[in-house]
Amino acid sequence: MKNFLKDSIKKYVMEKGDNFFDFLDTNGFKNPLIRFASAKDPIFNSFKEIIGEYHLTPTEAYELFFDGEKLKKGSVISIALPFSDEIIESNKQGNMPSKKWLLMGCSGGGFTSELSSYISTILKDKGYNAINPTSQNSFKITLDDNPHSNWSQKHIAYGCGLGTFSLNGSLITEKGRAILLLSLITNLVVEPDSRPYKNHTDNCLHYHDKECGECIERCPVDALSENGIDKLKCFERSFGEEAKEYAKSIGLKSDHAYGCGLCLVGVPCENENPLKSLN
Ligand code: SF4
Ligand code: SF4
Repeated sequence: MKNFLKDSIKKYVMEKGDNFFDFLDTNGFKNPLIRFASAKDPIFNSFKEIIGEYHLTPTEAYELFFDGEKLKKGSVISIALPFSDEIIESNKQGNMPSKKWLLMGCSGGGFTSELSSYISTILKDKGYNAINPTSQNSFKITLDDNPHSNWSQKHIAYGCGLGTFSLNGSLITEKGRAILLLSLITNLVVEPDSRPYKNHTDNCLHYHDKECGECIERCPVDALSENGIDKLKCFERSFGEEAKEYAKSIGLKSDHAYGCGLCLVGVPCENENPLKSLN
C-alpha cells in the first residue's frame, strides 16, 4: 500500500494533475519527495514543547475532524513539491521577487489542495480515512509578533524524515529549499521512514563549518543573520503594503502578492541537500 500511494502521488504530480501553469513553459513542480511517519511517533508530542502547547498532534488533528472517532493507530504522510528550475531561475534576478515566483505562490496552493483531495479519495476507495489539517476549520494561523500556526508543515516534514531546518527556519530537503509542503493524516498503517539526519539542523552548511551564510547575503531587508530570522521583517517584506504595491506594479492582483523567497535561490541549498558538497 505504501508503494501504491507513493506511485499514485508521483503519477498525479508528473502526469495526471494540473501541473501546467499558463505563466510557465515547463511543469510547475518536479518529482515530489514523499515520507511517512507513525501518527503516534513521540516526536509529534515534542512539538508541543518546542513550538507551543497549541500545536496539534496528528491524533488531535484527526480526532478534531472525525468528531468522535478515535485514532488508535495511523500514519502521517508528508510531501515536498520542488519548484521547477524555471521558477527558481526567475527569482535570482534583482532584489524583488519574480512574477513567476509570486504567481506560483498562489497557484501552487491550489495544486496542493487538489493533490490532497486526490490522496484522500484514493485512500477512501481503499477503506481508509485521511485529512489535510490545513484545509480544516481547526487550522489556525496567528499573526502576532511571532507569526505561527497550530500545524507547522515544516515540523511535520522534519518528523517524517523529509529534511532539517536551515539558518532561516525553512526546510532543507534532498531537493533543496525551493519547495511547497503538504501533509495528511490517515488511519492507514504503513512502515515509517527513517529520519536520515543527526539533528534538526544537520542539512544546513552553516551548522557544520560556520562559513556558509549565503542566504544572509541574499536577503534585501536584513531579516537574516547568523542568529536566525527576524520573522516580522520577513513577513512585512513578503506580505506587507509595499509587497502588495509591487505586485500591482507588475500586473498582479494584490491577493497574488504572496512571498519573497529571494533567500531560497542562488544558494547552495536551493535544489539539493548541500551536505553532498561535503562528501
Ligand atoms: S545558504 Fe548556506 S547557511 Fe543558508 S540555509 Fe543554505 S546551507 Fe544554510
Ligand atoms: S523570504 Fe525574503 S525577506 Fe524573508 S528572509 Fe528570505 S529574502 Fe529575507
